[in-house]
Amino acid sequence: MVLPTIPKDLRGLRACLMCSLIKSVDQFEKEGCDNCEEFLSMKDNIDNVVDCTSKNFEGMISMLTPGDSWVAKWQRINHFCKGVYAISVSGRLPNSIVRELRSRGIIYKSRDTSR
Ligand SMILES: [Zn+2]
Repeated sequence: MVLPTIPKDLRGLRACLMCSLIKSVDQFEKEGCDNCEEFLSMKDNIDNVVDCTSKNFEGMISMLTPGDSWVAKWQRINHFCKGVYAISVSGRLPNSIVRELRSRGIIYKSRDTSR
């Protein structure tokens, strides 16, 4: 059984700029992002955690059954791991990372839906 990734602490929460997963700074630093670690290398790298996550986000959705959740489809997160996701995340990944993603064929879309 895979336990859902849920924030352990409500203080210091940040949302991943790539997939909107919400975790505490400590969790991002210890475990990286469950969906994007391959691309963002946040594990044991606090600089990348700060660059690739944002503390400015709105709304929280907990997604425990990816795949058949309409919320997940609506948020385009149905292929992500179980966890708590932000509805909108302010900020952008640094250009160097956006370029790196593009070189791997991934087009980065901002998760900021507030404007
Ligand atoms: Zn992520």
